[in-house]
Amino acid sequence: MKKKIYAFLGMAVLTIVLLFLYDRIKSNKNESLSKYDFAMGTSVSVVTYGEKHDKLENTNNEIVDLIKYYDEKVLSWRSDSSELANLNKNDSMMMSKELEPAVKKSYAVCEDSEGALDITLRPVLNVWNIEQATNESFTIPDEDAIEDAINKTGYKNIIIDENNISLKNDVIIDLGSTAKGYILDVCYDALKDKDIYGAIVTAGGSVMVFGSKDDKSEWKIGIRNPKGNEGDMIGYLSFNDNQKHCVSTSGDYEKYFIVDGVRYHHIIDPKTGYPAKSGLSSVTVISEDGLYSDALSTACYVLGYEKSLPLLEKYDAQAVFIDNENNIYMTSGAKKLFVKQ
Ligand code: ADP
Ligand code: MG
Repeated sequence: MKKKIYAFLGMAVLTIVLLFLYDRIKSNKNESLSKYDFAMGTSVSVVTYGEKHDKLENTNNEIVDLIKYYDEKVLSWRSDSSELANLNKNDSMMMSKELEPAVKKSYAVCEDSEGALDITLRPVLNVWNIEQATNESFTIPDEDAIEDAINKTGYKNIIIDENNISLKNDVIIDLGSTAKGYILDVCYDALKDKDIYGAIVTAGGSVMVFGSKDDKSEWKIGIRNPKGNEGDMIGYLSFNDNQKHCVSTSGDYEKYFIVDGVRYHHIIDPKTGYPAKSGLSSVTVISEDGLYSDALSTACYVLGYEKSLPLLEKYDAQAVFIDNENNIYMTSGAKKLFVKQ
């Protein structure tokens, strides 16, 4: 009789222990959840890793709402209701805490790249209209139109004094080359204190990773083969230190038209007003800072490999350059992260 009671008690204890363990295993189960949307004129996505589905879901919704808010209310030069559009209409104002870092840091890269990045380039971009044109509608603008447009640009017409900004000579600001990187910094600030292991956020050609997936695997960010199709990667960057890393690529394969064998692509050299010819097909910049990774990828594409190196050094950024023959050049820090496919 006693034996039976002990056996029964033993079974009961074992069942409780197993249930307890099962519950622990279940609650420790690593989940990931993705959300995709369209904002900032491109596709955006957020993937979060953690333990609780509900938290991941709420976080993903919050992040996508945040991206849309910044796009529509702060950064877009196209959206009538944004702060930037308001500045472009009124020529002078006090910047909000949301707009100020985007403009100041973009301006710094304009200066440091000596105008290879120019956030007042919109009139020239409009003359080319590469972003909106179709194969049927695209035409090469005539030289006079390009020259006239160049005369309406120049980042030196932006005057910044603390959070006060004014625009001289009717220039307008377009953050199309830096805002997708900036939004990654905004997302990171919102994500870092959440109860998650890590996340990967993408906005067009800019990607941010931080934390971990909690299964010890590294983050892999692919670099596209400029001569290949969309899914064809030349290699990838590997991150496994749990820190925040931002990666932005500017390439001549993203938006372009070929006329008489010449490729007219969407990255314009502000000095000539024509698509940049620096011998490169793409530049991928790696930085802790999302805005700088995005701004520098555009600037370095215009500058070419040699002239980019001091600029990258100044911003403590790394880069992978792919030239028109698909040769790969890297800064020393990028070599440690790059894995050839
Ligand atoms: P993407 O927007 O395709 O991710 P980029 O960050 O390189 O790539 O930004 C390119 C966009 O920036 C172009 O579509 C154009 O609107 C604008 N742009 C092109 N050339 C320049 C330049 N030299 N300086 C500032 N903006 C530019
Ligand atoms: Mg850019």
